Amino acid sequence: MTDSTFSTAVLKWFEQHGRKDLPWQQKINPYRVWVSEIMLQQTQVSTVMDYFKRFMQAFPSVQDLAQASEDEVLHLWTGLGYYTRARNLHKASKIIVENYAGEFPRSVEELSALPGIGRSTAGAIASISMGIRAPILDGNVKRVLTRYKAIKGYPGTTQNTQKLWLLAEQLTPNQQVNHYTQAMMDLGATLCTRSKPSCLLCPIQQGCQAHLLGTPTAFPEPKPRKALPQRERLMLLVADQANQLLLYKRPSTGLWGGLWSFPEFEDRPQLDSFLQQHKLTIKNQTQLSPISHTFSHFQLHLEPWLFRTSQQQHGIAEGDWVWYNLADAPKLGLAAPVKKLLKTATQRLNLGDI
Ligand code: SF4
Repeated sequence: MTDSTFSTAVLKWFEQHGRKDLPWQQKINPYRVWVSEIMLQQTQVSTVMDYFKRFMQAFPSVQDLAQASEDEVLHLWTGLGYYTRARNLHKASKIIVENYAGEFPRSVEELSALPGIGRSTAGAIASISMGIRAPILDGNVKRVLTRYKAIKGYPGTTQNTQKLWLLAEQLTPNQQVNHYTQAMMDLGATLCTRSKPSCLLCPIQQGCQAHLLGTPTAFPEPKPRKALPQRERLMLLVADQANQLLLYKRPSTGLWGGLWSFPEFEDRPQLDSFLQQHKLTIKNQTQLSPISHTFSHFQLHLEPWLFRTSQQQHGIAEGDWVWYNLADAPKLGLAAPVKKLLKTATQRLNLGDI
C-alpha cells in the first residue's frame, strides 16, 4: 500500500462509516474542536458527550470561558478527572483572548505553545477546524500506525515516537485533511480497538503488517511496569450542627489542584492538632469505608473519619475554607472521591447515625 492509497482508503471508509453526528462535529470551529479534544484525552466519547454539551451551554465561546472563574470551570469538569486539563483550558482561553484578540492562532507551533495543547491536539485543531495539513498522533492513531507498520517495543520511547510522527506526517494527505484526521481517530476508536480489532472490515488491512503477521493485538507492546508507590492519608469530614461539611480549596498546583477537598493528614496526632488549632470540639465520630484511588504515579489510600462538632458558629469559613451543604451545593470543583464521600457522609448525617 502506498501513502496515497492509504489515505484514499481511509477517506473512503470515513465517507461510509465514520462518525459525523458527535456534538463537536456540529458548528465546527477551533474553540469547539479544542474543548472536545481536551475532554477526549483519557476519556471515552460516551462520557464526554454530556460534559461537552454542558460546557458549551455555560461557555459558548473562548471569550465566555476566559471570563469565567476557575471554580465555575472546575465545577463543570467535576467527575471527568485529570483536572490540570480544565485549568490549562482556562489559562489558554485567557491567552487567546488577551494575546490573539480571541482568534485561535493558525499554526501548529503557536497552538502548541498554549497551556495543555500538545502537538497532536494542535494538529487536530488545525486540521479539523482550519483545514491545515497537520498530522495527529493521539492514543488511537498511535495504535493504528504501530500495527500498520508492526513497530516493536513500547510506542512511547523517544525512538518510536519519532518514527510514528514521521509516519503520521508521510501518510497525511494534502486534501480533505479535516476528514482524514477524523477518520484516523474513528478507525482507532471503532475498528482497530485495543483488544478486538475488526481487521476484516478495515480499509487498510492489505497493507497492515500486524494483520499480515496474524498477531494484531501483539502491537503496541505495553509500557514496562514499575510498582506504584503507596500513600496513606486520614481524611477529616467534619460536620457542624446544620450538617454542613468543611472543605478547603487545594493549591492550584499538585494533586487535585484548585479543587475543593476535605482536609487530609498523615496521622492522628496531626488531625487532632488541626481540630485544636481551629477550636473544633468533637461530639461524635465514626469511621467511613476506606477509599483507594490510583493516579499515574502513585496509589492513594484514604481513611475517612466523619466527625460532628458541637458548635453552631465556627471561625474558619473564609477564604480557602467553606462549610458545604449538599442540599444547597455551591458551584465548586470537587475530586471524584470527595464527591462520593460527601454523599455518604450526608446520608449518615441525615439518618442521625452520628
Ligand atoms: S488491519 Fe486490523 S490491526 Fe491493522 S489497522 Fe486495521 S484493524 Fe488495526
